[in-house]
Amino acid sequence: MKRFIEDIFPVKEVSEHSVREKNIRHGHISTLHIWWARRPLAASRATAYAVLIPSCSTDEEKEEKRKFIVELSKWENSLKSDVIEKARKDILNLYGRPPRILDCFAGGGSIPLEALRLGCEAHAVEYNPVAVLILKCTLEYPQKYGKRLVEDVSRWGNWVLERAKEEIGKFYPSEILETNDLELEGRKRKEELKTVGYIWARTIPCQNPACGAEIPLMRQFWLAKKEKKRVSLYPYVEGKEVKFKIVGDGYEEMPEGFDPSKGTVKGAIATCPACGFVSDASTVRRLFQQGKA
Ligand SMILES: [Zn+2]
Repeated sequence: MKRFIEDIFPVKEVSEHSVREKNIRHGHISTLHIWWARRPLAASRATAYAVLIPSCSTDEEKEEKRKFIVELSKWENSLKSDVIEKARKDILNLYGRPPRILDCFAGGGSIPLEALRLGCEAHAVEYNPVAVLILKCTLEYPQKYGKRLVEDVSRWGNWVLERAKEEIGKFYPSEILETNDLELEGRKRKEELKTVGYIWARTIPCQNPACGAEIPLMRQFWLAKKEKKRVSLYPYVEGKEVKFKIVGDGYEEMPEGFDPSKGTVKGAIATCPACGFVSDASTVRRLFQQGKA
């Protein structure tokens, strides 16, 4: 049997739907766990269908099938019963029973998931234990446990979160920010600012004997470098201590002449923000080797 995919395949359209899918967060398996080379669902579904069904005899039929494959690949149609049902029927009518599909390098699970969606009996093989767990959670457990799984994941997810908060919550304190809100007629608006992460840097002591400041080794200071949002850290010196504040859009204005792309270190050559003293690469490396960094 000559397969449909051997004749034609709507590469352009399916590629476009595959690209669009990258922005979908809700309900997409990519939010379950990252997998680096996970195939787009659009392409996986379209190719699975196109290899299972036979080629058509007339050009009209081919064009009709081609259009159907484009429809089938759309994210919006992932759960649309009439589109999926038609594809399933085409496959089932042809084979008489669900065909067996084996993905022997299953990775993030897109291909076996889409084979399942098309009503096939999907088998997935993986060598990487992380991928195996992802596959079990994507393909096996939802079928095995049904809706109960949603409650369990949410319950145990919260259990982990609560315990993590107990243990490390103190390192992520909240800050209450009070601002004058015009809409509230002079009353203060309170906003809770949560610490979500840290930027850390190794430091070396400044080699200028008169200075001795602790130099944070940072290649650059950008926090956000988008066209509409440019925010960076700004190092300033208080006494002999290097401190930071946030400057840029939505914050204090970026000081004139400050270039966040220029950090304190480049190619192991470190410049002290307090006194301007330059430590050469061999000195910086020696400090690292001596455990002083
Ligand atoms: Zn210095």
